[in-house]
Amino acid sequence: MKTYRIASIPGDGIGIEVIAAGLRVLEALVERDGGFRLDVKTFDWGSERYKRTGALMPEDGAEQLRDFDAIFFGAVGAPDVPDHLTLWGLRLAICQPLDQYANVRPTRILPGIESPLRGVGPGELDWVIVRENSEGEYAGQGGRSHRGLPGEVATEVSIFTRIGVERIMRHAFVLARSRPRKLLTVVTKSNAQRYGMVMWDEIAREVSRDFPDVTWDKMLVDAMTVRMTLNPSSLDTIVATNLHADILSDLAAALAGSIGIAPTANLNPERRTPSMFEPIHGSAFDITGKGIANPVATFWSASMLLEHVGERDAARRLMDAIEKVTADPDLHTPDLGGDATTERVTEAVIAAIRSRN
Ligand code: ATP
Ligand code: MG
Repeated sequence: MKTYRIASIPGDGIGIEVIAAGLRVLEALVERDGGFRLDVKTFDWGSERYKRTGALMPEDGAEQLRDFDAIFFGAVGAPDVPDHLTLWGLRLAICQPLDQYANVRPTRILPGIESPLRGVGPGELDWVIVRENSEGEYAGQGGRSHRGLPGEVATEVSIFTRIGVERIMRHAFVLARSRPRKLLTVVTKSNAQRYGMVMWDEIAREVSRDFPDVTWDKMLVDAMTVRMTLNPSSLDTIVATNLHADILSDLAAALAGSIGIAPTANLNPERRTPSMFEPIHGSAFDITGKGIANPVATFWSASMLLEHVGERDAARRLMDAIEKVTADPDLHTPDLGGDATTERVTEAVIAAIRSRN
């Protein structure tokens, strides 16, 4: 029987609650399927560890993860630890050395979920956002001088490499081609940013020649927010830089109903290293400990994880169970306007997994 080694990193806040729920759901799938096993190892990395030891994870943390088949990640961040420390000290400290350069975020309106967009229902908003995850505006290059003085200067340098842009573009075209509409929108800001963004446009054109069956167009990021809001059905696969896609995917999550539903995968598409699956939301300390975190984003991430390791049937079964549960308003958590608890939603998803059909 196939056994997949899964590294679980619950992290902080509601990350711990939703990963616990996610692992229960995965266990139920293993039981139901009977054809594979999961060997889960949990890592207590995060802000508590930082407060105890001065580091969110051990120095060789990324190396410790290298032999796993996939990583299941919750959220990181705590009110009393600066955000840039938690981001660079854990998430990026994993994504960068493991070269998870493609951040993929499926976004669609699940059954029973209401979009804040009037008249837009399931089927009319069905996107995959591909975010460049290794360079760009978050390359960590720059500096500060004359700290605190009137002449203080800070630079934040974006890095775009031909290799980096080409590989994300290629991944986006491959993904677009695998979807029924074969439609790709390349987002840049090449009117205002004359170097990196113009190179993005050029590389998009070059790569597109290898994908004659994919229809593609270009959008400026500002106009893109308007199109996403006013004409969501005109979009399918979307590719953008690290910063642009970061912002667009939060907008996308909100338009699809709630940040508590949106999943993401940090992929190394060549599978040279393990990929990491997580809800897009953060540690949400405002609701931590209340038992009301929406676990759906984590369940959907778990489905992506199963798909990635090759367990298609289990991935599909989980997605069906999620959709059965979101279709019932009685099973909506408060972020969706309901009063269900994390526990109740989890039990309902497990029951749907166990049911015959
Ligand atoms: P971080 O810095 O870790 O990203 P944040 O506070 O900036 O944290 P989130 O943690 O994503 O951002 O939370 C944003 C808002 O969305 C909060 O009000 C939070 O309660 C809500 N929220 C986030 N995730 C969920 C969820 N799974 N279920 C319900 N509400 C959620
Ligand atoms: Mg946040």
